[in-house]
Amino acid sequence: MLISGAGIAGPALAYWLHRYGFAVTVVERAPELRTGGYKVDIRGAAIEVAERMGILEDIQRSSTDMQTGAYVNGSGKRIATLPADIFGARVDRDDEIMRGKLTQILYERTRADVDYLFGDSITSLTPLTGTGEHGVEVTFERGATRRFDLVVGADGLHSTVRRLAFGPEARFLRHLGGYLSAFSMENELGLDREELYHALPGKLTCVYHSAGEPGAKGLLGFRSPLLEYDHRDTGRQLDLLDGAFAGDGWRIPRLLEAAREADDFYFDGLHLVQMDRWSRGPVVLLGDAAHCASPASGQGTGMALVGAYVLAGELAAADGDPAGAFARYEAEMRGYVAVNHALAEKFAREMTPMTWWQIRLRHLMLRMLPHMPWKDWVARKVAEDVQRGARAITLKDYPLPPVPAARPARPTYAA
Ligand SMILES: Cc1cc2nc3c(=O)[nH]c(=O)nc-3n(C[C@H](O)[C@H](O)[C@H](O)COP(=O)(O)OP(=O)(O)OC[C@H]3O[C@@H](n4cnc5c(N)ncnc54)[C@H](O)[C@@H]3O)c2cc1C
Repeated sequence: MLISGAGIAGPALAYWLHRYGFAVTVVERAPELRTGGYKVDIRGAAIEVAERMGILEDIQRSSTDMQTGAYVNGSGKRIATLPADIFGARVDRDDEIMRGKLTQILYERTRADVDYLFGDSITSLTPLTGTGEHGVEVTFERGATRRFDLVVGADGLHSTVRRLAFGPEARFLRHLGGYLSAFSMENELGLDREELYHALPGKLTCVYHSAGEPGAKGLLGFRSPLLEYDHRDTGRQLDLLDGAFAGDGWRIPRLLEAAREADDFYFDGLHLVQMDRWSRGPVVLLGDAAHCASPASGQGTGMALVGAYVLAGELAAADGDPAGAFARYEAEMRGYVAVNHALAEKFAREMTPMTWWQIRLRHLMLRMLPHMPWKDWVARKVAEDVQRGARAITLKDYPLPPVPAARPARPTYAA
């Protein structure tokens, strides 16, 4: 089987498919594992999947271990500080990890058993139906043409597999009215496991430091209608950020500089991917490629982990009937995705208040919260929506093969 994309969904699926006895190849466009990105939440059903994969302890060891979150004013003064778990709406075993660390954990778990091809991309998919053979013929930008039983598009929001098998991405993307960028920078504010937010009408900026990281991360988000740009043109994305934040105070000029200096700059729209179906013949989509819920949902990574578990479990149970497996995978996932898409729309609206009045009201409420007798109730209420999304699926118990013994990693080959 061929998986396109070595982000979160791809390596997670590779893990399960190998465990079920399938031979797996993963092709990744980037020349090496992409470890950029913001901190991501692992909650609810995703925690259960991580536990079944045996990576929950690795995640806990790599937890961001955030202590506090604060809003600052234009001079950098903390005007409202809250414990990080309230700030992040985390309960029970919910955890938070840097996206890059999770990618590394998944890659290290699978690299001995899976063929990773870095620096290549699929260019065409030709299903062999009607030729007396089964599977799909795949051509690559660099590597030789090969045949696979199934192809999984786990290649993210701007999926190439989706474009080749289903059509142009504009058909499936729904813009939620904002853009977000994340990048590494020096810990110039000397933060210790703390995140500082500075809100401006229609814009949100953040700097944070998390456990075990020598540096800090910057985040810039702004409201905007859909913008025309090439999603691989970093220079244009940096210019868009400069334009959106021109003349703004606090640390923003420094953040804009840091974005230009970073080697892991990430920029993308808040988009939903909405599709009527996720499979066509021997090709199926997974993770953001199938149902991106945007960073506003806070569930994209969890959904990628859960989707990988469900797709692999259904394929293993299908006894050679991928069409049946794909249908059951969709049936299991659809409700979970719908709840999180609805939450993403709500959170995208609430993320960036549009007026100073709304911003001041939010600051006031956050400042008062720790002193309110009913603060725990309010915190639970805030977390309720997020929890509803994170638990909107009951995981089936697919027959679990034993965990294979660890083997030394095999080398990976660039194409
Ligand atoms: C560098 C990076 C930073 C991110 N930062 C954030 C963040 O700060 N906040 C947030 O909420 N979400 C972020 N995301 C998105 C988040 O990782 C996903 O929403 C979520 O984890 C779902 O994972 P996924 O595996 O479906 O997609 P992704 O994590 O996006 O992984 C997709 C993978 O496919 C690869 N790929 C793309 N095109 C091709 C191709 N043609 N051929 C082969 N491989 C291809 C990409 O390089 C990537 O490695 C980021 C994604 C990336 C790639």
